[in-house]
Amino acid sequence: MNIMYSSTRGHGGKITASQAILKGLAEDGGLFVPDRIPELDVSLGDLSKMSYRQVAYEVMKLFLTDFTKEELKTCIDRAYDSKFDVPEIAPLKYADGAYYLELFHGATIAFKDMALSILPHLMITSARKNDIKDEIVILTATSGDTGKAALAGFADVAGTRIIVFYPKNGVSPIQEKQMVTQKGANTLVVGIKGNFDDAQTGVKKMFGDKELEKELGEKGFRFSSANSINIGRLVPQIVYYVYSYAQLLKDGKIKDGEAINIVVPTGNFGNILAAFYAKNMGLPVAKLICASNTNKVLYDFFESGDYDRNREFHLTSSPSMDILISSNLERLIYRIAGNDPARNNELMADLSSKGVYSITDEERKGLKDFYGGFADEKETAEEIARVYKDCGYVIDTHTAVASYVYRKYAEKTGDKAVTVIASTASPFKFTRSVMNAIDPKYDAMDDFALVDELSKIAKVKVPNAVEEIRSAPVIHDHVCEINEMPNVVRNFLK
Ligand SMILES: *Cc1c(COP(=O)(O)O)cnc(C)c1O
Repeated sequence: MNIMYSSTRGHGGKITASQAILKGLAEDGGLFVPDRIPELDVSLGDLSKMSYRQVAYEVMKLFLTDFTKEELKTCIDRAYDSKFDVPEIAPLKYADGAYYLELFHGATIAFKDMALSILPHLMITSARKNDIKDEIVILTATSGDTGKAALAGFADVAGTRIIVFYPKNGVSPIQEKQMVTQKGANTLVVGIKGNFDDAQTGVKKMFGDKELEKELGEKGFRFSSANSINIGRLVPQIVYYVYSYAQLLKDGKIKDGEAINIVVPTGNFGNILAAFYAKNMGLPVAKLICASNTNKVLYDFFESGDYDRNREFHLTSSPSMDILISSNLERLIYRIAGNDPARNNELMADLSSKGVYSITDEERKGLKDFYGGFADEKETAEEIARVYKDCGYVIDTHTAVASYVYRKYAEKTGDKAVTVIASTASPFKFTRSVMNAIDPKYDAMDDFALVDELSKIAKVKVPNAVEEIRSAPVIHDHVCEINEMPNVVRNFLK
């Protein structure tokens, strides 16, 4: 049975998966959602005997129903190959009573690689299927990790260009160096004088700008998105939750059908939404634990039913979660509002005009699978130090937020269910914050000396992604004001 996609804001009718991947964001500003969540049609036992690629196929075929078996398998084979530095693609590491699902073994050592290594292939296949001849221009706003992962995925892919906007002072030194050293004639990286929300709002505006669309359309360009609003990002992210369950089953850590908890360090709500979709496909999941940093707008929402972005924005040591407008939450809101675009529109209009919306008590019942928690900067650093001292295992700042929130949750509730913590970045990506958390004496060392020291204490080889940028020349040094973003795009596409 075919799955069709429509906008959370109700306009534009139903389209196929490949069309939704090409569009990225719906024309009315909404996000594409599947008309139903399909159920897994292979048993958990069978999944436990499968490789990552095989699980990927079993999950993705259910959502991308207009792709042929061959098309989808080709995309999967091209994505999940030796770009990943371990054969399991997403290994589980047991430490201190929980399983850390390491999602950072791809080209740019953050979990964004899990989806962005396949998105370019899905996009090119979608263009071919829909007879699109235009060059596809990927417009991306990044809080640090999406940018590099998208650049790595799309660089030199024929028929595409990619433009990345990042907050000039809002990413880690390693994140910035990774982006500004990106090769590929079809790539452009620009720092903006603003924060991530400004970058994301600026990009969304360009997607909705009819005049810009017409002007560039005449030159043979069309926009698409590599942000987590694209269902071509969301669907591949469901895979690793199913895979992690299958691995726990294979290793005898759980019984068939036993429910696990999943903890996700959250920013734009894409990763945890994928876990929610996995649960709705029939994966036995008890609680979905949503972990926030000091920008705890989601925690407050789960506590009160009020989503309120009118608050101070904090730059933290987990910059990929420094977000006050969690775009993918709209997909959950749409669902708990009974898949009603009118109600969703009302709430989103409140968010854009007043910066706040409130859901009803009835709607709040739809959130019962979720538990919200947060960790401040001190708690995050202490968690890194504690896990290292107790287990010799070094986690990054984002994972530490999740890890802390989980410990607090377990303490408070006594919940003993087997728990998977999404480990979203390698500690090598946030070396300074990680090493300072372990011992403040490290602050005196320079960035790459710290990398070597981390390798020593963690007994982990320095990842290629970091080796590569040690001496790489800066290629992109453009910085612009928020309102100049459309002209930056025009100039690049001249
Ligand atoms: C993007 C990112 C997150 C947040 O994921 P969302 O899907 O935006 O909620 C968390 N950790 C790291 C390292 C990231 O790159």
